[in-house]
Formats: sequence, C-alpha cells, structure tokens
Amino acid sequence: MNPDFTDLRVTVAGLGVSGVPAAKALHALGARVTVVNGVAGERQRAEAAELEALGITVRLGGGATLPEGTELVVTAPGWKPSSPLFTAAAKAGVEIWGDVELAWRLRKPGAAPWLAVTGTNGKTTTTRMLAAILTAAGLRTAAVGNIGVSLLDAVLGDEPYDVLAVELSSYQLHWAPSIRPHSAAVLNLAPDHLDWHGSMAAYTADKGRIYQGNQVACVYNRADPETERLVREADVEEGCRAIGFTLDAPRPSDFGLVDGILVDRAFVDDRVNSAQELAETADVNPPAPHNIANALAAAALARAYGVEPAAVREGLRAFRPDAHRIAEVATRDGITWVDDSKATNTHAAEASLAAYPSIVWLAGGLAKGAVFDDLVIKSADRLRAAVLIGADRALIREALARHAPQVPVVELGRTDTGAMAAAVAVARDRAQPGDTVLLAPACASMDMFANYNERGDMFAEAVRRLGAADSDSDEP
Ligand code: ADP
Repeated sequence: MNPDFTDLRVTVAGLGVSGVPAAKALHALGARVTVVNGVAGERQRAEAAELEALGITVRLGGGATLPEGTELVVTAPGWKPSSPLFTAAAKAGVEIWGDVELAWRLRKPGAAPWLAVTGTNGKTTTTRMLAAILTAAGLRTAAVGNIGVSLLDAVLGDEPYDVLAVELSSYQLHWAPSIRPHSAAVLNLAPDHLDWHGSMAAYTADKGRIYQGNQVACVYNRADPETERLVREADVEEGCRAIGFTLDAPRPSDFGLVDGILVDRAFVDDRVNSAQELAETADVNPPAPHNIANALAAAALARAYGVEPAAVREGLRAFRPDAHRIAEVATRDGITWVDDSKATNTHAAEASLAAYPSIVWLAGGLAKGAVFDDLVIKSADRLRAAVLIGADRALIREALARHAPQVPVVELGRTDTGAMAAAVAVARDRAQPGDTVLLAPACASMDMFANYNERGDMFAEAVRRLGAADSDSDEP
C-alpha cells in the first residue's frame, strides 16, 4: 500500500495545516520535496523557515509554477482545480493527490478503517457524534480530517486507533481518487462552493466519491434523492449495503423515527418485522430536526461498524455541539437567544429556522451568489421579524418583500464593530415572550467579521451586555 517515495520529486502545493505536515511526512520518507505557495505573508514565512531548516525547498510568492522534474503533486484542499500548476501537472502526466489521498496511501498495514462523512451541512456535527458513539463503545477513535485535526497525523502517529471518524470536504474528495472507506455517509446536497467545482454536477460527483469502495454501508439521506443516486452509481465492495436515514418511519434497511425514538431497521436480524431502539430524540443535543437526522446518520455508520445499540444512546448523550452551531446563548423574559453563526449558507439557515416556531431572524453578510427566495418561502410563517446586517442584506430584504411582505424588516446599514450590538438591541425590541432570536445569517461573515466564530462571539457578547444593562436598570 505504501509506495516507495525515496528520491521521488514531489511538489507540495500550499503550506498551512495540510501542506506543512504533508511536506514533513514526504521528506521523512526520503522524497525530494519542494513546497510552493503563492502568498508570502508572515505566517507563510515562518512555516517556510521551519521546513527549510529540515532541508525542504520552499518557493514563496509569485505565480506558483510546477517545478521542473516534478513526479507527484500533493495539494492542499483549497487550491482551485483550474490553477495553472495543476494544468501543467496534468499536461505532464503527473498525478495530483490531496492531503487525504496522501494519508490514505501512507496508512500502515492493518491501519484503522475509516468511517467517512460528507455533505453540504452537518459534517462536523455528525463526525463528532460518530466519534462520541465509538468512544462510548470503548473503541479507540478520533474525529479527524476537515475538522481541524490532521488526518495525516492520525495515520502516521504512534497512537493506535481501532477506527477513525473522518470528515471530508468536497475539495478533499476531489483530490482523493483511491480512498476506500469502510462505510460512508453523504448527509445532504445543496449548491455550495460552485465557483471552485465549476458546476453542481461536478460538486455532486466529488461528494459521491466518498462511497467508492465502501465495504459495509453507503449511508444516504432518504429526503435527498441525489444522495441515493450517488449510492446507486458507486462502485462498492461485494455485499456493501445502501442504508437510508429518515425523519419518518424507517423502511427495511433504514434508520428512522418511530414515536420519537431513533430506531435501526437495518442492522437487525429480522429487518422486515423488527427494529432496534437506539435512543430518544431528547438524547440528541440540540433536538432540532436536522440534528436528529445527523444523529441517525452517525448511528448508521456506528452500527455498520458493529457498535452495540446502548453505545449509540450513551454517545449521543455525551455529545456536545461545537460552538456557534445552534448554541443557546441566553433565555431572558421568555425570549431565547440562539447563535447559529455557522449557518453560512441558505441550506443551513433553512434547517435552523425550521427548528423554532416563532423567530426574530438575524441574518445577512456575504451571499456568495446565493438566492434567498426558497429559504424565505419555507420559513415565512415562522418569522416574527427580520433584522438584516451586512453587505448583501438587500438580497434578503428583496426576497422577504417578494414572498413575505407581512414580516417586518429592520435593516442596519452600519458595518462597524458596534453593528452587532445594535442588531441585538433591535431584535430584543421586536421579540415577544416565547420567541427565539436566531442568528442564522445564511451568509458568510467576512464582510464584517474575521470569521463566523467572531460573528457568533459578538452576538453572544451583545446579548450578555443587554442582559447586564437590563438588570442594572432594574436596580431600585
Ligand atoms: P459542516 O461541517 O458541514 O459545515 P456543521 O456540523 O458545522 O456542518 O453545521 C454547520 C451548520 O449547518 C449548522 O450551524 C446548522 O445551521 C447547519 N446544519 C447542521 N446539520 C445540518 C443538516 N443535517 N442539514 C442542514 N443544515 C444543517
């Protein structure tokens, strides 16, 4: 499985969290590594110095061209497939691997199998739920991949894992032609990153690669027929099964819901006549519909690996969502404040809006080419009011005017650091007891904030300050 890298001339495209470990690993295997990186900022110079100290060549700045004599390219996931370096590599017949492909190729004999997760939304949550379930089952595991923990480190490290919970992005899948997960799930598919992939068809096809070579289960979303189509088209190992997950009652070979119970009707002895109870919806944190779907997908992968039902419940109970994903910030005067700053596209925002009956919606930012009509049509009857911020707020305002003219809209034109506090104050005035004020921007954050974390933090901070100010003014 492990090819001979001795003296192989490898070009690593990109520094950062995937490029640096890749360069080091290849160097350690005896390859002659050159790292190219177009940007030459402070961080890149520091990383370059670290690699050069090991004897690795680094070319910073300028147009990244393919070094003479390159025999293999290993790329960081963000690089666009249209980059001239890749065109040159393809022309020269040089293979291009992503960081995930490299990790796959460098696995040691008998290495831990991968349970892999992709989808437009819910990847991180589902991967972490899966890791929690596997841990509850007493297995040595980690949540790795597109989740801030290097897959390469997990594969090369000394710690022996039984099984890995692997989150994979569409970019990573694009450059990972030969990975063969034990089992995999595509959670959902909605337009995203189309500028990178070129088209929805190309994006979908890259996501579908996760099913190639699966051995036990290809897990798909019954509410999303495209995911099922990808399973049908996948070239899998003999005996590998298609397993659906659904918020409805499960058919045989599905995971689904029966009277608020998550059940497995796939990995049971008699799936025609019976189902196995796994957990209650109240065990899922938070128990929003889309998150229950994530839990079902995680459970399906865990059960495909042979985990006992009790560990599914225990793992789901132990699971804590990452920050800024439907995080309850405060409840005051009957109003609940929820930070879903990670809802950076319309598909994600739609899911979180569906989780609450009466909402003051805080939205806006960078639309990345999105259209908001569908989202507004599906969510209109839940909206008490909308408070809009950010560069592309007019797009949401126009969609609201078209499809939900009855919903009051307040727009904040300011983009300074106090804008979030102003938006929170407006939301408080609009909200009534029983309402949820939901930050689910449906947009990226970079027009006003460093990233979605900062956006969520500022929201939470503004909510806290508002509470403090209220209690001060209550003083006699
Ligand atoms: P990803 O890793 O795919 O970005 P996360 O688990 O970090 O996904 O969740 C990102 C956002 O997507 C959440 O804040 C939530 O709004 C939304 N989300 C999570 N799960 C789903 C789902 N199954 N369907 C739709 N939206 C979802």
